[in-house]
Amino acid sequence: MLDRLSPQAPDPLLALIRLHAADPREDKIDLGVGVYRTEEGATPVFRAIKAAEQRLVDEQDSKSYLGPEGDIGFVNALMPYIFGADATMGGRLAGMQTPGGTGAVRLAVALAQKAGVRRIHMGVPSWPNHAQIMADISLEVATFDHANPDGIANLDAVLTAIRSAGPDEAILLHGCCHNPTGVDYTLDQWAAIAEAIAETGVFLIIDSAYQGLGAGLEEDAAGMRLVLAKMPEALIAYSCDKNFGMYRDRVGALYMLAETPAGLDAITSNANALARASWSMPPDHGAAAVRLILRDPDLTKVWLTELDEMRGRMRQVRAALAAAGTAGRIDLTPLGTQNGLFSVVPVSKEEVVRLREEHGIYMAASGRINIAGLTMANLPKFVAALAEVTG
Ligand code: PMP
Repeated sequence: MLDRLSPQAPDPLLALIRLHAADPREDKIDLGVGVYRTEEGATPVFRAIKAAEQRLVDEQDSKSYLGPEGDIGFVNALMPYIFGADATMGGRLAGMQTPGGTGAVRLAVALAQKAGVRRIHMGVPSWPNHAQIMADISLEVATFDHANPDGIANLDAVLTAIRSAGPDEAILLHGCCHNPTGVDYTLDQWAAIAEAIAETGVFLIIDSAYQGLGAGLEEDAAGMRLVLAKMPEALIAYSCDKNFGMYRDRVGALYMLAETPAGLDAITSNANALARASWSMPPDHGAAAVRLILRDPDLTKVWLTELDEMRGRMRQVRAALAAAGTAGRIDLTPLGTQNGLFSVVPVSKEEVVRLREEHGIYMAASGRINIAGLTMANLPKFVAALAEVTG
């Protein structure tokens, strides 16, 4: 049977990691892999996480099973940060822990499909796994352009997609820090989107994987909250893997907004059933550490400071890129106001290869760059190389 399987293309970013590792040049720059890096190039464990993990080691007295909903203390402690003061939206919102944001997205679309959604509208480019997950569960995808060539979100395209959607269709939006473009909707655009969704009744799924890495924890959630306030129902996939630096510990959650508090039971029981049939229950450790942080005001302060440092560094890099103005054909100024870990520079595949071979600068073939791969020290080299290759 297994002979019938044809080999699948490897993840191109993993191939890039290998090429980068094998490159002996000391001034090589890795803009490929999607993790935060300090000015020194490290992706350290947060101090708040280290402290919470120590507490877990000292105090955790059982590793007995939890349910498919995971650590509900973690799920609930996060809610005010995501949804604001009325964290349960009048008792209409409940969540469950998932294996990372990927598990949350997977569960969200599977639950939507179980409820009757047949097609999902999605802005492109997007995180490649969005399309892969939909293909894996045979959900049809309809795409629209997320951003204009000038690096501003394409409001007309998303509104057209919403208005063209049929009754069994959904739209998937990034909550903030769009991956890969860094282009987020402005609050005015979110307001227009909210109105269009409310008018047409298209089902809303939000993927929020980078809250706090853009303009601030509250600021990054503002657009999403504005839309949700107008929605009778929605699904929100959330990741803590970036804003707590927990990547490999797989910390995520799915939140479900129901029309009425009474409607929540049926929705969450279906999500639990889907989780049981796939991963049974999520891994505990990372979510337990996040719960300890969020329940302890001192640890919360440490975490918020670390998140500020991380965001501050990325804003500094973005400001320096914008200040550089243009590099050859490329206008770098839009990168200054874009958000999060990623932006896309409009280079051709050939130019990506030249940057790698001639300058030791590694980036995805799409031109996506990890902003945190740049530092005040290597940024001039990047800008000069970009100018040479595209000039
Ligand atoms: N959504 C988006 C848009 C992402 O970029 C990512 C991670 N790269 C995820 C979800 C999944 O994150 P996690 O690592 O928590 O599975």
